[in-house]
Amino acid sequence: MGKWGVAVRCPECGHEMEEGLLQGVQRVAWVRKRHRLSLWPKKGEILLANNPLQDFIFPAWICKDCKKIIMEYGDKEIREG
Ligand SMILES: [Zn+2]
Repeated sequence: MGKWGVAVRCPECGHEMEEGLLQGVQRVAWVRKRHRLSLWPKKGEILLANNPLQDFIFPAWICKDCKKIIMEYGDKEIREG
């Protein structure tokens, strides 16, 4: 799973997911608990994009029936601190 052009199956219904892109602007992070002030990653968290002047874009697969998206975040570092 995860390679562009390869079939990705929905973890809920098992149907093949539709390939596309997850696009947005500025900042996005995977966090364990909601951050109130900054998105700067804490231990075990990942800052996926931090581009004040640009968009971000990741390969992503969607199941519109189950409302699930799986995305690939590449080589972003997991915050160890
Ligand atoms: Zn599904």
